[in-house]
Amino acid sequence: MDSGGFYYDMDLDDRKLSEEDLVSLEKKMNELAKTNSAYIRKEMPKAEAVQYFTEKGDEYKLDLLSNLNDGEITFYTQGRFTDLCRGPHIPNTGLIKAIKLTSIAGAYWKGDEKNKMLTRVYGITFPTQKELEEYLLMLEEAKKRDHRKLGKELGIFTMDDDVGPGLPLWLPNGTIIIEELEKLAKETEEDAGYKRVVTPHIAKESMYITSGHLPYYQDSMYPPMELEGQKYYLKAMNCPHHHKIFAAEPKSYKDLPLRLAEYGTCYRYEQSGELFGLMRVRCLHMNDAHIYCTKEQFAQEFKAVNDMYLKYFKIFGIEKYIMRLSLHDPEKLGQKYVDEPELWIETEELVRNVMIDAKIPFVEVKGEGAFYGPKIDVQIWSAIGREFTLATNQVDFAQGRRFKLEFTTPDNNTDIPLIIHRAPLGTHERFIGFLLEHYAGKFPVWLSPLQVKVLPISDKFMDYAKVVASKLKKSGVRVEVDDRNEKIGKKIRDNELHRVPYMLVIGEKEMNESKVSVRRQGKGDLGMKDLDEFINSINEEIRNRTNE
Ligand code: ZN
Repeated sequence: MDSGGFYYDMDLDDRKLSEEDLVSLEKKMNELAKTNSAYIRKEMPKAEAVQYFTEKGDEYKLDLLSNLNDGEITFYTQGRFTDLCRGPHIPNTGLIKAIKLTSIAGAYWKGDEKNKMLTRVYGITFPTQKELEEYLLMLEEAKKRDHRKLGKELGIFTMDDDVGPGLPLWLPNGTIIIEELEKLAKETEEDAGYKRVVTPHIAKESMYITSGHLPYYQDSMYPPMELEGQKYYLKAMNCPHHHKIFAAEPKSYKDLPLRLAEYGTCYRYEQSGELFGLMRVRCLHMNDAHIYCTKEQFAQEFKAVNDMYLKYFKIFGIEKYIMRLSLHDPEKLGQKYVDEPELWIETEELVRNVMIDAKIPFVEVKGEGAFYGPKIDVQIWSAIGREFTLATNQVDFAQGRRFKLEFTTPDNNTDIPLIIHRAPLGTHERFIGFLLEHYAGKFPVWLSPLQVKVLPISDKFMDYAKVVASKLKKSGVRVEVDDRNEKIGKKIRDNELHRVPYMLVIGEKEMNESKVSVRRQGKGDLGMKDLDEFINSINEEIRNRTNE
Protein backbone atom coordinates (compact mmCIF):
# COMPACT_ATOMS: atom_id res chain seq x y z
CA MET A 1 0.00 0.00 0.00
CA ASP A 2 1.31 3.41 -0.84
CA SER A 3 -0.01 6.39 1.04
CA GLY A 4 0.41 10.01 0.11
CA GLY A 5 0.54 13.00 2.40
CA PHE A 6 2.92 14.16 5.10
CA TYR A 7 3.83 13.49 8.71
CA TYR A 8 5.61 15.15 11.58
CA ASP A 9 7.20 13.36 14.54
CA MET A 10 7.21 14.87 18.03
CA ASP A 11 8.59 13.87 21.41
CA LEU A 12 5.70 14.65 23.77
CA ASP A 13 7.01 12.62 26.73
CA ASP A 14 3.97 10.99 28.31
CA ARG A 15 1.36 13.25 26.77
CA LYS A 16 -1.00 11.38 24.46
CA LEU A 17 -2.56 13.21 21.51
CA SER A 18 -6.31 12.77 21.00
CA GLU A 19 -8.69 13.30 18.10
CA GLU A 20 -9.58 16.69 19.62
CA ASP A 21 -5.93 17.69 19.47
CA LEU A 22 -5.97 16.99 15.73
CA VAL A 23 -9.00 19.25 15.33
CA SER A 24 -7.31 22.12 17.14
CA LEU A 25 -4.04 21.55 15.21
CA GLU A 26 -6.00 21.70 11.97
CA LYS A 27 -7.67 24.90 13.08
CA LYS A 28 -4.30 26.47 13.81
CA MET A 29 -2.96 25.36 10.43
CA ASN A 30 -5.92 26.94 8.68
CA GLU A 31 -5.38 30.17 10.61
CA LEU A 32 -1.72 30.23 9.59
CA ALA A 33 -2.71 29.54 5.98
CA LYS A 34 -4.90 32.65 6.01
CA THR A 35 -2.01 34.85 7.25
CA ASN A 36 -0.20 34.16 3.98
CA SER A 37 3.14 34.19 5.80
CA ALA A 38 6.39 33.38 4.00
CA TYR A 39 8.74 30.40 4.51
CA ILE A 40 12.22 31.86 4.68
CA ARG A 41 15.17 29.63 3.77
CA LYS A 42 18.57 30.22 5.28
CA GLU A 43 21.80 28.28 4.87
CA MET A 44 23.56 27.72 8.18
CA PRO A 45 27.17 26.91 9.01
CA LYS A 46 27.29 23.69 11.03
CA ALA A 47 28.78 25.33 14.15
CA GLU A 48 25.99 27.89 14.30
CA ALA A 49 23.29 25.27 13.75
CA VAL A 50 24.70 23.08 16.51
CA GLN A 51 24.80 26.06 18.87
CA TYR A 52 21.19 26.93 18.04
CA PHE A 53 19.85 23.47 18.86
CA THR A 54 22.16 23.03 21.87
CA GLU A 55 20.60 26.14 23.37
CA LYS A 56 17.14 24.76 22.65
CA GLY A 57 18.11 21.38 24.09
CA ASP A 58 16.89 19.57 20.94
CA GLU A 59 18.74 16.24 20.99
CA TYR A 60 17.00 15.02 17.81
CA LYS A 61 18.12 17.90 15.61
CA LEU A 62 21.61 17.59 17.09
CA ASP A 63 21.58 13.90 16.14
CA LEU A 64 20.59 14.79 12.56
CA LEU A 65 23.24 17.52 12.41
CA SER A 66 25.96 15.05 13.39
CA ASN A 67 25.59 13.47 9.93
CA LEU A 68 25.52 16.77 8.03
CA ASN A 69 28.34 19.01 6.88
CA ASP A 70 28.75 22.70 6.14
CA GLY A 71 26.91 23.54 2.96
CA GLU A 72 24.23 20.86 3.55
CA ILE A 73 22.41 22.61 6.37
CA THR A 74 19.38 24.80 5.79
CA PHE A 75 16.90 26.34 8.21
CA TYR A 76 13.36 27.38 7.37
CA THR A 77 11.48 30.01 9.32
CA GLN A 78 7.77 30.71 9.17
CA GLY A 79 6.45 33.28 11.63
CA ARG A 80 7.89 32.43 15.03
CA PHE A 81 8.80 28.86 14.08
CA THR A 82 12.31 27.94 12.93
CA ASP A 83 13.39 24.40 12.05
CA LEU A 84 16.18 22.42 10.49
CA CYS A 85 14.82 21.37 7.12
CA ARG A 86 16.25 20.23 3.80
CA GLY A 87 13.27 21.77 1.98
CA PRO A 88 12.02 22.65 -0.50
CA HIS A 89 8.98 24.47 0.85
CA ILE A 90 6.10 26.29 -0.76
CA PRO A 91 6.89 30.04 -0.75
CA ASN A 92 4.13 30.95 1.71
CA THR A 93 1.30 29.49 3.78
CA GLY A 94 -1.34 31.20 1.60
CA LEU A 95 -0.94 28.40 -0.95
CA ILE A 96 -2.43 25.90 1.52
CA LYS A 97 -6.09 25.56 0.55
CA ALA A 98 -7.35 22.30 2.00
CA ILE A 99 -5.84 20.29 4.81
CA LYS A 100 -6.79 17.29 6.91
CA LEU A 101 -4.89 15.58 9.70
CA THR A 102 -5.73 11.95 9.23
CA SER A 103 -4.20 9.95 12.07
CA ILE A 104 -1.86 9.66 15.06
CA ALA A 105 0.66 6.85 15.41
CA GLY A 106 3.78 5.90 17.30
CA ALA A 107 7.08 5.94 15.41
CA TYR A 108 10.57 5.11 16.61
CA TRP A 109 13.18 7.81 16.10
CA LYS A 110 14.91 6.99 12.80
CA GLY A 111 12.65 3.90 12.49
CA ASP A 112 14.87 1.98 14.93
CA GLU A 113 13.04 0.09 17.69
CA LYS A 114 15.99 0.63 20.03
CA ASN A 115 15.23 4.36 19.98
CA LYS A 116 12.53 6.28 21.76
CA MET A 117 8.96 6.07 20.48
CA LEU A 118 7.76 9.45 19.20
CA THR A 119 4.27 10.65 18.35
CA ARG A 120 3.64 10.88 14.63
CA VAL A 121 0.81 12.95 13.16
CA TYR A 122 -0.20 12.12 9.57
CA GLY A 123 -1.95 14.57 7.31
CA ILE A 124 -2.82 15.29 3.72
CA THR A 125 -3.30 18.43 1.67
CA PHE A 126 -4.78 19.20 -1.73
CA PRO A 127 -4.96 22.29 -3.92
CA THR A 128 -8.76 22.39 -3.51
CA GLN A 129 -11.34 21.37 -0.93
CA LYS A 130 -13.10 19.26 -3.56
CA GLU A 131 -10.02 17.12 -4.20
CA LEU A 132 -9.52 16.68 -0.47
CA GLU A 133 -13.11 15.49 -0.05
CA GLU A 134 -12.76 13.04 -2.95
CA TYR A 135 -9.62 11.68 -1.35
CA LEU A 136 -11.33 11.21 2.04
CA LEU A 137 -14.21 9.38 0.36
CA MET A 138 -11.73 7.09 -1.37
CA LEU A 139 -10.09 6.37 2.00
CA GLU A 140 -13.44 5.42 3.48
CA GLU A 141 -14.10 3.07 0.56
CA ALA A 142 -10.60 1.63 0.96
CA LYS A 143 -11.40 0.84 4.58
CA LYS A 144 -14.43 -1.20 3.49
CA ARG A 145 -12.25 -2.95 0.92
CA ASP A 146 -9.32 -3.53 3.29
CA HIS A 147 -7.64 -6.70 2.01
CA ARG A 148 -7.05 -7.95 5.57
CA LYS A 149 -10.75 -7.70 6.39
CA LEU A 150 -11.93 -9.19 3.08
CA GLY A 151 -9.19 -11.81 3.17
CA LYS A 152 -10.61 -13.08 6.43
CA GLU A 153 -14.30 -12.85 5.46
CA LEU A 154 -13.74 -14.68 2.18
CA GLY A 155 -11.35 -17.33 3.54
CA ILE A 156 -8.39 -16.17 1.41
CA PHE A 157 -5.51 -16.15 3.89
CA THR A 158 -4.67 -16.22 7.57
CA MET A 159 -1.73 -15.46 9.83
CA ASP A 160 -0.67 -17.55 12.81
CA ASP A 161 1.65 -16.58 15.62
CA ASP A 162 3.31 -19.99 15.66
CA VAL A 163 4.08 -19.79 11.96
CA GLY A 164 5.48 -16.30 12.43
CA PRO A 165 4.85 -12.71 11.45
CA GLY A 166 4.77 -11.88 7.75
CA LEU A 167 4.26 -15.51 6.74
CA PRO A 168 0.71 -15.80 5.35
CA LEU A 169 -1.03 -19.17 5.17
CA TRP A 170 -3.11 -19.45 2.01
CA LEU A 171 -6.52 -20.97 2.72
CA PRO A 172 -8.32 -23.15 0.13
CA ASN A 173 -10.13 -20.14 -1.43
CA GLY A 174 -6.91 -18.13 -1.66
CA THR A 175 -5.14 -21.12 -3.15
CA ILE A 176 -7.73 -21.32 -5.95
CA ILE A 177 -6.97 -17.68 -6.83
CA ILE A 178 -3.23 -18.43 -6.75
CA GLU A 179 -3.70 -21.38 -9.08
CA GLU A 180 -5.82 -19.38 -11.51
CA LEU A 181 -3.19 -16.62 -11.61
CA GLU A 182 -0.44 -19.15 -12.21
CA LYS A 183 -2.49 -20.77 -14.96
CA LEU A 184 -2.86 -17.40 -16.64
CA ALA A 185 0.86 -16.68 -16.28
CA LYS A 186 1.87 -20.11 -17.58
CA GLU A 187 -0.38 -19.86 -20.62
CA THR A 188 0.82 -16.34 -21.38
CA GLU A 189 4.48 -17.23 -20.91
CA GLU A 190 4.15 -20.39 -22.96
CA ASP A 191 2.71 -18.34 -25.82
CA ALA A 192 5.60 -15.90 -25.48
CA GLY A 193 8.23 -18.64 -25.75
CA TYR A 194 9.26 -18.97 -22.10
CA LYS A 195 10.63 -22.18 -20.59
CA ARG A 196 9.71 -23.17 -17.06
CA VAL A 197 12.25 -24.13 -14.41
CA VAL A 198 12.14 -25.10 -10.74
CA THR A 199 14.88 -24.18 -8.25
CA PRO A 200 15.55 -24.83 -4.54
CA HIS A 201 14.60 -22.33 -1.84
CA ILE A 202 18.14 -22.18 -0.44
CA ALA A 203 21.66 -21.80 -1.77
CA LYS A 204 25.22 -21.71 -0.52
CA GLU A 205 26.86 -18.49 0.58
CA SER A 206 29.32 -18.56 -2.32
CA MET A 207 26.55 -18.02 -4.90
CA TYR A 208 25.36 -14.87 -3.15
CA ILE A 209 28.90 -13.58 -2.97
CA THR A 210 29.15 -14.04 -6.72
CA SER A 211 25.83 -12.30 -7.26
CA GLY A 212 26.77 -9.46 -4.90
CA HIS A 213 23.68 -10.00 -2.72
CA LEU A 214 26.28 -10.58 -0.02
CA PRO A 215 27.10 -8.11 1.36
CA TYR A 216 25.01 -5.49 -0.54
CA TYR A 217 21.59 -7.06 0.07
CA GLN A 218 22.37 -8.88 3.31
CA ASP A 219 20.09 -6.71 5.45
CA SER A 220 17.09 -7.97 3.48
CA MET A 221 18.02 -11.65 3.77
CA TYR A 222 17.31 -14.17 6.50
CA PRO A 223 20.35 -15.10 8.60
CA PRO A 224 22.25 -18.14 7.30
CA MET A 225 21.91 -21.80 8.34
CA GLU A 226 25.03 -23.86 8.99
CA LEU A 227 25.25 -27.26 7.40
CA GLU A 228 28.33 -29.47 6.89
CA GLY A 229 30.58 -26.51 7.59
CA GLN A 230 28.87 -24.38 4.92
CA LYS A 231 26.54 -21.44 5.23
CA TYR A 232 23.23 -21.63 3.39
CA TYR A 233 20.85 -18.75 2.78
CA LEU A 234 17.14 -18.72 2.00
CA LYS A 235 16.79 -17.17 -1.42
CA ALA A 236 15.67 -13.56 -1.49
CA MET A 237 15.62 -13.55 -5.30
CA ASN A 238 15.44 -16.18 -8.00
CA CYS A 239 17.97 -14.60 -10.37
CA PRO A 240 21.17 -16.32 -9.21
CA HIS A 241 19.56 -19.76 -9.47
CA HIS A 242 18.38 -18.96 -13.00
CA HIS A 243 21.84 -17.71 -13.98
CA LYS A 244 23.22 -21.07 -12.87
CA ILE A 245 20.69 -22.80 -15.14
CA PHE A 246 21.89 -20.63 -18.03
CA ALA A 247 25.48 -21.61 -17.21
CA ALA A 248 24.70 -25.32 -16.89
CA GLU A 249 25.30 -25.93 -20.62
CA PRO A 250 27.44 -24.01 -23.13
CA LYS A 251 25.31 -21.53 -25.05
CA SER A 252 25.49 -20.19 -28.58
CA TYR A 253 23.70 -17.24 -30.15
CA LYS A 254 21.22 -19.78 -31.50
CA ASP A 255 20.01 -20.48 -27.95
CA LEU A 256 19.10 -16.83 -27.42
CA PRO A 257 16.82 -15.31 -26.41
CA LEU A 258 16.48 -17.78 -23.55
CA ARG A 259 13.52 -17.02 -21.29
CA LEU A 260 13.44 -18.89 -17.97
CA ALA A 261 10.27 -18.61 -15.89
CA GLU A 262 9.40 -19.74 -12.39
CA TYR A 263 6.78 -18.83 -9.81
CA GLY A 264 9.64 -18.59 -7.32
CA THR A 265 9.26 -18.58 -3.55
CA CYS A 266 11.50 -15.95 -1.95
CA TYR A 267 12.15 -15.00 1.66
CA ARG A 268 12.99 -11.47 2.69
CA TYR A 269 13.64 -9.97 6.03
CA GLU A 270 11.31 -7.05 6.70
CA GLN A 271 11.32 -5.43 10.13
CA SER A 272 8.32 -6.56 12.15
CA GLY A 273 7.10 -2.95 12.37
CA GLU A 274 7.02 -2.79 8.56
CA LEU A 275 4.90 -5.91 8.03
CA PHE A 276 1.41 -5.20 6.73
CA GLY A 277 -1.15 -7.87 5.77
CA LEU A 278 -0.26 -9.28 2.35
CA MET A 279 1.40 -6.06 1.26
CA ARG A 280 4.60 -6.45 3.22
CA VAL A 281 5.50 -10.03 4.02
CA ARG A 282 8.54 -12.19 4.65
CA CYS A 283 7.64 -14.98 2.23
CA LEU A 284 6.64 -14.15 -1.31
CA HIS A 285 5.72 -16.02 -4.47
CA MET A 286 7.02 -14.15 -7.46
CA ASN A 287 5.84 -14.24 -11.07
CA ASP A 288 9.50 -14.25 -12.02
CA ALA A 289 11.44 -14.78 -15.23
CA HIS A 290 14.82 -13.90 -16.66
CA ILE A 291 15.41 -13.28 -20.33
CA TYR A 292 18.95 -13.74 -21.64
CA CYS A 293 19.44 -12.01 -24.97
CA THR A 294 21.88 -10.27 -27.28
CA LYS A 295 22.03 -6.49 -27.57
CA GLU A 296 20.35 -6.77 -30.97
CA GLN A 297 17.47 -8.76 -29.52
CA PHE A 298 17.03 -6.52 -26.53
CA ALA A 299 14.55 -3.96 -27.90
CA GLN A 300 12.13 -6.59 -29.10
CA GLU A 301 12.36 -8.62 -25.90
CA PHE A 302 11.86 -5.59 -23.71
CA LYS A 303 8.89 -4.48 -25.75
CA ALA A 304 7.34 -7.95 -25.55
CA VAL A 305 7.61 -7.78 -21.76
CA ASN A 306 5.88 -4.40 -21.72
CA ASP A 307 3.15 -5.78 -23.98
CA MET A 308 2.63 -8.59 -21.48
CA TYR A 309 2.07 -6.02 -18.73
CA LEU A 310 -0.51 -4.24 -20.90
CA LYS A 311 -2.26 -7.53 -21.70
CA TYR A 312 -2.59 -8.25 -17.98
CA PHE A 313 -3.86 -4.74 -17.24
CA LYS A 314 -6.66 -5.34 -19.73
CA ILE A 315 -7.59 -8.71 -18.22
CA PHE A 316 -7.82 -7.21 -14.71
CA GLY A 317 -9.48 -3.97 -15.76
CA ILE A 318 -6.54 -1.85 -14.59
CA GLU A 319 -7.19 1.39 -16.39
CA LYS A 320 -4.73 3.74 -14.76
CA TYR A 321 -1.04 2.93 -14.65
CA ILE A 322 2.26 4.61 -15.15
CA MET A 323 5.68 3.28 -16.02
CA ARG A 324 8.66 5.03 -14.51
CA LEU A 325 12.07 4.72 -16.10
CA SER A 326 14.54 4.72 -13.21
CA LEU A 327 18.06 5.77 -14.20
CA HIS A 328 21.44 5.81 -12.48
CA ASP A 329 23.01 8.83 -10.86
CA PRO A 330 26.37 9.57 -12.54
CA GLU A 331 27.69 11.00 -9.27
CA LYS A 332 27.16 7.70 -7.44
CA LEU A 333 28.90 5.35 -9.86
CA GLY A 334 30.95 2.79 -7.97
CA GLN A 335 28.90 3.22 -4.78
CA LYS A 336 25.22 2.80 -5.55
CA TYR A 337 25.72 1.80 -9.19
CA VAL A 338 28.05 -0.47 -11.12
CA ASP A 339 30.93 1.68 -12.34
CA GLU A 340 30.30 1.36 -16.08
CA PRO A 341 29.36 4.87 -17.25
CA GLU A 342 29.16 4.00 -20.96
CA LEU A 343 27.11 0.85 -20.45
CA TRP A 344 24.68 2.81 -18.31
CA ILE A 345 24.13 5.46 -20.95
CA GLU A 346 23.86 2.89 -23.71
CA THR A 347 21.36 0.68 -21.85
CA GLU A 348 19.27 3.59 -20.67
CA GLU A 349 19.06 4.82 -24.25
CA LEU A 350 17.96 1.34 -25.38
CA VAL A 351 15.16 1.25 -22.80
CA ARG A 352 14.08 4.83 -23.48
CA ASN A 353 13.77 4.12 -27.20
CA VAL A 354 11.67 1.00 -26.63
CA MET A 355 9.26 3.00 -24.48
CA ILE A 356 9.03 5.83 -27.01
CA ASP A 357 8.56 3.45 -29.96
CA ALA A 358 5.86 1.51 -28.13
CA LYS A 359 4.11 4.79 -27.22
CA ILE A 360 3.94 3.73 -23.59
CA PRO A 361 3.47 6.69 -21.23
CA PHE A 362 6.46 6.96 -18.89
CA VAL A 363 8.39 9.39 -16.73
CA GLU A 364 12.12 9.40 -16.05
CA VAL A 365 13.67 9.55 -12.60
CA LYS A 366 17.39 9.91 -11.98
CA GLY A 367 19.00 7.98 -9.12
CA GLU A 368 16.34 5.27 -8.75
CA GLY A 369 17.92 2.57 -10.95
CA ALA A 370 18.91 -0.85 -9.63
CA PHE A 371 22.56 -1.54 -8.76
CA TYR A 372 23.16 -3.34 -12.04
CA GLY A 373 21.03 -1.48 -14.57
CA PRO A 374 18.08 0.78 -15.34
CA LYS A 375 14.56 -0.41 -14.60
CA ILE A 376 10.94 0.33 -15.29
CA ASP A 377 8.86 0.62 -12.13
CA VAL A 378 5.18 0.00 -12.68
CA GLN A 379 2.57 1.82 -10.61
CA ILE A 380 -1.08 0.84 -10.91
CA TRP A 381 -4.27 2.29 -9.46
CA SER A 382 -7.11 0.22 -8.04
CA ALA A 383 -10.74 0.77 -9.03
CA ILE A 384 -11.11 3.28 -6.19
CA GLY A 385 -8.04 5.25 -7.24
CA ARG A 386 -5.46 4.03 -4.76
CA GLU A 387 -1.91 3.64 -5.95
CA PHE A 388 0.08 0.39 -5.73
CA THR A 389 3.62 -0.44 -6.77
CA LEU A 390 3.18 -3.56 -8.85
CA ALA A 391 6.53 -4.71 -10.11
CA THR A 392 9.68 -3.79 -11.90
CA ASN A 393 11.06 -4.65 -15.26
CA GLN A 394 14.84 -4.45 -15.04
CA VAL A 395 17.74 -4.50 -17.41
CA ASP A 396 20.94 -6.00 -16.14
CA PHE A 397 24.32 -5.69 -17.80
CA ALA A 398 26.38 -6.62 -14.72
CA GLN A 399 25.15 -9.99 -13.42
CA GLY A 400 26.03 -11.74 -16.69
CA ARG A 401 29.61 -10.72 -16.16
CA ARG A 402 29.66 -11.58 -12.44
CA PHE A 403 28.36 -15.08 -13.21
CA LYS A 404 30.65 -15.42 -16.26
CA LEU A 405 27.64 -16.12 -18.48
CA GLU A 406 28.68 -16.39 -22.11
CA PHE A 407 27.48 -17.39 -25.51
CA THR A 408 29.37 -17.95 -28.74
CA THR A 409 28.65 -15.40 -31.44
CA PRO A 410 28.18 -16.21 -35.18
CA ASP A 411 31.85 -15.33 -35.80
CA ASN A 412 32.94 -17.74 -33.06
CA ASN A 413 33.77 -15.15 -30.44
CA THR A 414 32.15 -15.02 -27.03
CA ASP A 415 29.86 -12.34 -25.67
CA ILE A 416 27.91 -11.72 -22.46
CA PRO A 417 24.12 -11.72 -22.62
CA LEU A 418 21.97 -8.84 -21.43
CA ILE A 419 19.49 -10.00 -18.80
CA ILE A 420 15.94 -8.75 -18.36
CA HIS A 421 14.37 -9.40 -14.94
CA ARG A 422 10.61 -9.17 -15.07
CA ALA A 423 7.59 -9.99 -12.89
CA PRO A 424 4.44 -8.49 -14.44
CA LEU A 425 2.09 -10.01 -11.86
CA GLY A 426 4.45 -9.08 -9.04
CA THR A 427 4.05 -11.46 -6.12
CA HIS A 428 0.90 -13.40 -5.27
CA GLU A 429 0.88 -11.66 -1.90
CA ARG A 430 0.83 -8.09 -3.16
CA PHE A 431 -1.20 -8.78 -6.29
CA ILE A 432 -4.00 -10.65 -4.50
CA GLY A 433 -3.99 -7.94 -1.83
CA PHE A 434 -4.45 -5.44 -4.65
CA LEU A 435 -7.16 -7.53 -6.35
CA LEU A 436 -9.16 -7.84 -3.12
CA GLU A 437 -9.37 -4.06 -2.93
CA HIS A 438 -9.74 -3.57 -6.68
CA TYR A 439 -12.73 -5.93 -6.93
CA ALA A 440 -14.01 -5.33 -3.38
CA GLY A 441 -13.89 -9.12 -3.07
CA LYS A 442 -16.25 -9.56 -6.06
CA PHE A 443 -13.86 -11.50 -8.24
CA PRO A 444 -14.66 -12.06 -11.90
CA VAL A 445 -16.03 -15.56 -12.49
CA TRP A 446 -12.75 -17.07 -13.73
CA LEU A 447 -10.92 -16.03 -10.54
CA SER A 448 -13.73 -16.57 -8.08
CA PRO A 449 -13.04 -19.42 -5.60
CA LEU A 450 -16.68 -20.50 -5.85
CA GLN A 451 -18.31 -19.78 -9.19
CA VAL A 452 -21.86 -21.09 -8.80
CA LYS A 453 -24.11 -21.89 -5.86
CA VAL A 454 -27.21 -23.94 -6.52
CA LEU A 455 -30.14 -22.95 -4.28
CA PRO A 456 -33.05 -25.42 -4.09
CA ILE A 457 -36.21 -23.68 -2.85
CA SER A 458 -36.95 -26.72 -0.67
CA ASP A 459 -35.72 -30.28 -0.03
CA LYS A 460 -38.16 -31.48 -2.68
CA PHE A 461 -35.82 -30.18 -5.35
CA MET A 462 -32.57 -31.35 -3.77
CA ASP A 463 -32.06 -34.24 -6.21
CA TYR A 464 -32.38 -32.00 -9.25
CA ALA A 465 -30.13 -29.40 -7.57
CA LYS A 466 -27.47 -32.10 -7.22
CA VAL A 467 -27.86 -33.09 -10.87
CA VAL A 468 -27.36 -29.45 -11.88
CA ALA A 469 -24.26 -29.18 -9.66
CA SER A 470 -22.73 -32.40 -10.91
CA LYS A 471 -23.22 -31.40 -14.58
CA LEU A 472 -21.59 -28.04 -13.90
CA LYS A 473 -18.73 -29.68 -12.03
CA LYS A 474 -18.10 -32.11 -14.88
CA SER A 475 -17.78 -29.16 -17.25
CA GLY A 476 -15.06 -27.68 -14.99
CA VAL A 477 -17.06 -25.13 -12.98
CA ARG A 478 -16.49 -24.67 -9.22
CA VAL A 479 -19.95 -25.27 -7.74
CA GLU A 480 -21.70 -26.09 -4.46
CA VAL A 481 -25.28 -26.82 -3.41
CA ASP A 482 -26.77 -24.75 -0.58
CA ASP A 483 -28.46 -27.68 1.17
CA ARG A 484 -29.32 -25.79 4.37
CA ASN A 485 -32.89 -25.92 5.55
CA GLU A 486 -33.36 -22.13 5.10
CA LYS A 487 -35.83 -19.87 3.29
CA ILE A 488 -34.73 -19.03 -0.27
CA GLY A 489 -34.52 -15.31 0.60
CA LYS A 490 -31.95 -16.00 3.29
CA LYS A 491 -29.97 -18.32 1.02
CA ILE A 492 -29.76 -15.58 -1.60
CA ARG A 493 -28.71 -12.94 0.93
CA ASP A 494 -26.00 -15.13 2.49
CA ASN A 495 -24.49 -16.08 -0.85
CA GLU A 496 -24.56 -12.45 -2.04
CA LEU A 497 -22.60 -11.60 1.09
CA HIS A 498 -20.06 -14.26 0.20
CA ARG A 499 -19.81 -12.65 -3.22
CA VAL A 500 -20.69 -15.78 -5.20
CA PRO A 501 -20.90 -14.65 -8.85
CA TYR A 502 -23.79 -16.90 -9.92
CA MET A 503 -26.72 -18.35 -7.98
CA LEU A 504 -29.06 -20.85 -9.58
CA VAL A 505 -32.50 -21.01 -7.98
CA ILE A 506 -34.22 -24.37 -8.39
CA GLY A 507 -37.99 -24.94 -7.96
CA GLU A 508 -40.85 -26.89 -9.49
CA LYS A 509 -40.81 -25.23 -12.91
CA GLU A 510 -37.02 -25.40 -13.26
CA MET A 511 -37.00 -29.10 -12.36
CA ASN A 512 -39.80 -30.03 -14.75
CA GLU A 513 -38.30 -28.16 -17.71
CA SER A 514 -34.55 -28.87 -17.09
CA LYS A 515 -33.96 -25.19 -16.47
CA VAL A 516 -32.33 -22.92 -13.89
CA SER A 517 -33.24 -19.43 -12.67
CA VAL A 518 -30.08 -17.38 -12.85
CA ARG A 519 -29.06 -14.63 -10.42
CA ARG A 520 -25.86 -12.66 -11.07
CA GLN A 521 -23.95 -10.88 -8.33
CA GLY A 522 -24.50 -7.14 -8.77
CA LYS A 523 -27.08 -7.60 -11.53
CA GLY A 524 -29.88 -9.48 -9.79
CA ASP A 525 -32.35 -11.81 -11.50
CA LEU A 526 -31.44 -12.73 -15.10
CA GLY A 527 -34.47 -15.00 -15.56
CA MET A 528 -34.84 -18.67 -16.49
CA LYS A 529 -32.38 -20.42 -18.79
CA ASP A 530 -31.89 -23.91 -20.18
CA LEU A 531 -29.34 -25.71 -18.02
CA ASP A 532 -27.14 -26.59 -21.02
CA GLU A 533 -27.28 -23.04 -22.30
CA PHE A 534 -26.14 -21.74 -18.90
CA ILE A 535 -23.30 -24.29 -18.73
CA ASN A 536 -22.07 -23.15 -22.14
CA SER A 537 -22.25 -19.47 -21.35
CA ILE A 538 -20.48 -19.66 -17.99
CA ASN A 539 -17.73 -21.81 -19.48
CA GLU A 540 -17.23 -19.24 -22.20
CA GLU A 541 -17.03 -16.49 -19.59
CA ILE A 542 -14.39 -18.45 -17.69
CA ARG A 543 -12.41 -19.30 -20.83
CA ASN A 544 -12.33 -15.66 -21.95
CA ARG A 545 -11.47 -14.47 -18.44
CA THR A 546 -14.20 -11.87 -18.81
CA ASN A 547 -13.57 -9.04 -16.38
CA GLU A 548 -17.00 -8.56 -14.79
ZN1 ZN B 1 15.84 -11.28 -11.12
